[in-house]
Amino acid sequence: MPGGLAQGGPAPGGPPSFGGPATFVQSSPAPPPATPVPQPLAAEGGPVDLRRAALSGAAPLRLASNPVNPLGDKPEVPGVRCEKGHFNHPKASNCMRCGRPIPAGTPQASGPRPSIGALLADDGSVWGLSRGYLVGAQPGVADDVQSGALAPISMRSGPNHSMGPVHAEVQVRGWSAYVVDRGADGGTWLQSPGSQGWDKLARNEQRELPNGSHVSCGGRVLTYLSAWPA
Ligand SMILES: [Zn+2]
Repeated sequence: MPGGLAQGGPAPGGPPSFGGPATFVQSSPAPPPATPVPQPLAAEGGPVDLRRAALSGAAPLRLASNPVNPLGDKPEVPGVRCEKGHFNHPKASNCMRCGRPIPAGTPQASGPRPSIGALLADDGSVWGLSRGYLVGAQPGVADDVQSGALAPISMRSGPNHSMGPVHAEVQVRGWSAYVVDRGADGGTWLQSPGSQGWDKLARNEQRELPNGSHVSCGGRVLTYLSAWPA
């Protein structure tokens, strides 16, 4: 019995406990080599997927930390970094990227500004506010757009309204958004959260946009949604 175990064991290289019956020893050599080969591959397949997941997570990191933006430079603004280095609004208590808590005493740093929020149009269109926009029926004709200083938001007027070729401007400064009237007929209107009415901006007037405020121009409405704490 011991001799049979010893002979059976070395041949398949399998565990001695399986070496008892000769028939098992003979049949086991074939399967064990076959199964161990795919198993390491399958085991390596898991880490490969994880690396892909890590790569997909790394792409936005490069975008956020890359100081050179083809659509325009990302201005440096004061903020705080989580322990993983993600750049956040100075009042953020948790990292917007990874959720890690940012202690109250975390020293401020300077970094490339991420998007401060989004503009949501009445037709469901959304524009990320990493930069400023020019709203109108033909914003592309403006020097601000042709120079790349502003991105165009081309909108048709609402019923019984007139949208100027260049009607209103949405600026991003620091971590805040502003609306600027550009002097078109019909004017630019602002409704702040909690307000029931519309305030008409004076010609070329600018107002800071509170989170949740609505801008109306040319019979259309854009809503500003901040991504950060007030
Ligand atoms: Zn983070």
